[in-house]
Amino acid sequence: MRLTRLRLLGFKSFVEPSDFLIEPGLTGVVGPNGCGKSNLVEALRWVMGESSHKNLRAAEMDDVIFAGSGGRPGRNSAEVMLTVDNSDRTAPASFNDADVLEISRRIEREKGSQYRINGREVRARDVQLIFADASTGARSPALVRQGQIAELIAAKPQSRRRILEEAAGISGLHSRRHEAELRLQAAEQNLARLEDVLAQIE
Ligand code: ATP
Repeated sequence: MRLTRLRLLGFKSFVEPSDFLIEPGLTGVVGPNGCGKSNLVEALRWVMGESSHKNLRAAEMDDVIFAGSGGRPGRNSAEVMLTVDNSDRTAPASFNDADVLEISRRIEREKGSQYRINGREVRARDVQLIFADASTGARSPALVRQGQIAELIAAKPQSRRRILEEAAGISGLHSRRHEAELRLQAAEQNLARLEDVLAQIE
């Protein structure tokens, strides 16, 4: 999978529709202080399923919506669309029938977010798993925040292990195991309830 295009609409300072083509190789984003470089990386995190507004330097999730500036009124919604080249067919099986995946996240003030993949509404979890399997994603070590290198050096061994596991692409497996464990617990509870009912009938 390869990221090929990022489109922002009303996300933070990007009030006008803005398209960024991501060519193969190294991409650099340069510009003066405050021009929106970090906002761009945060848009990438956000569309990949970031669920913590704190990781996006926002007091609440609605703060990612353009709040108005220089006489321009704020907006009521924001959208980020990420185009992914899936011609190597490495996306999870349920989304692996297309060469190109258009992954979008839209937020409306006080209504929360909605995710889509190729127009089909999906859960945040589905989007997060696509990127976890590809060793990338909102919390991936591939996206390095300002100050993060210093944090890494001072990190506890458990945190370093999590980073290594993400880099190795096995964090998706951990998430799946957790989901499977929850389902197993629910099934065990149902079984226990069934046994109670059977005991009452006998
Ligand atoms: P630096 O080089 O200093 O790190 P940068 O290029 O990374 O700067 P950002 O931090 O991405 O810049 O952008 C900051 C700008 O984005 C500020 O001007 C801030 O007012 C603006 N901004 C952030 N959130 C919103 C929002 N919701 N609505 C409008 N503007 C916003």
